Amino acid sequence: MRAATFCGFVLALLVVSPAAQTRPGKTLDIYVVDVEGGNATLFVSPSGESLLMDTGNGGAAAARDADRIMAAVNDAGLTRIDHLITTHWHGDHFGAMAELANRIPIRHFIDHGPSVQSQPASDLFLKDTYPALYGKAKRTIAKPGDRIPIAGLDWRVVTSAGQAIQTPLPGAGQGNPYCRAHKPQDVDPTENAQSLGSVITFGRFRAAHLGDLTWNKEFDLMCPTNRIGTVDLFFVSHHGQPISNAEVLTHALQSRVAIMNNGTRKGGQPAAMQIIHSAPRLEDLWQVHFSTLSGQEYTVPGLFIANLIDDQPAAMPVAAMPPPPPGPGAPPAPVHNGPAYWIKVSAQPDGSFTVTNARNGFSKTYRSN
Ligand SMILES: [Zn+2]
Repeated sequence: MRAATFCGFVLALLVVSPAAQTRPGKTLDIYVVDVEGGNATLFVSPSGESLLMDTGNGGAAAARDADRIMAAVNDAGLTRIDHLITTHWHGDHFGAMAELANRIPIRHFIDHGPSVQSQPASDLFLKDTYPALYGKAKRTIAKPGDRIPIAGLDWRVVTSAGQAIQTPLPGAGQGNPYCRAHKPQDVDPTENAQSLGSVITFGRFRAAHLGDLTWNKEFDLMCPTNRIGTVDLFFVSHHGQPISNAEVLTHALQSRVAIMNNGTRKGGQPAAMQIIHSAPRLEDLWQVHFSTLSGQEYTVPGLFIANLIDDQPAAMPVAAMPPPPPGPGAPPAPVHNGPAYWIKVSAQPDGSFTVTNARNGFSKTYRSN
């Protein structure tokens, strides 16, 4: 396993041949890229067709996050990105898109439609930059129930623009025992609630990634009947924040493995971690970062954590640190701009899959059952 270092990136550029794009493999490979509490998850089907979900942060972080995504792209031997899903219009999900599009062709742009939340960066991006990008390619506004055509995979959109599928996916539709105890949170008027969520099936392997979908929308999707069914792999929603990841979702999915794309001080709060850790069939939680909001008390062993920080202290405190009061006076989160590592999943059609931490090489295989 090559680490996502700059050297690895250069080396990968030298050794990748253009023919690699069409070389069929045996596994569905998934790279969960560290974009510091944003999202960038790259799926490469056995046919060589690729789908990137989200493009990390923009502004001063755009070059860094595009570099990190390209390291995974090169490791996978891709010469283009066939499909790009932007789950919603928040800067940690679309931020590095233009920077990335300068480095590799993107053929198909998929999103939930217009933003419901006016913010200077996304308003400008959606007015000028995004139309210029998809104008040279293809754009799809996805609705719940839509299929995204990727050879070798069954890719289903289950939420988009605040709506959820009404017809259960094949094999799903059972009652959800977690609905009765569910307590709603405040209505979320932001883009998070609009997230384009996906369920991906490869043979007997199933995974769910719902972007930053929030608590009440999880209920709408999963109650009174569970329209997704169970999955092997759950991408923890919303970086592991407790305004997402209700039991109606995280427990009803009965995933064997969860992967959390969190930041150094984003996601991993005790309330979310208590729910995730107590999911009924969960064997392991893997984290893209340690989080100060977890402390050792709520986090997993370092073996399962892919990234540290630039100025790493000798020890992590046991107690979870509370988040600082919001506002411009808040101290900055611990910085991580140095070498970054992905968590990679390789899934087999029989449902077995292997998860690898690129920082330390630790790897674990979950056999089909
Ligand atoms: Zn986010």
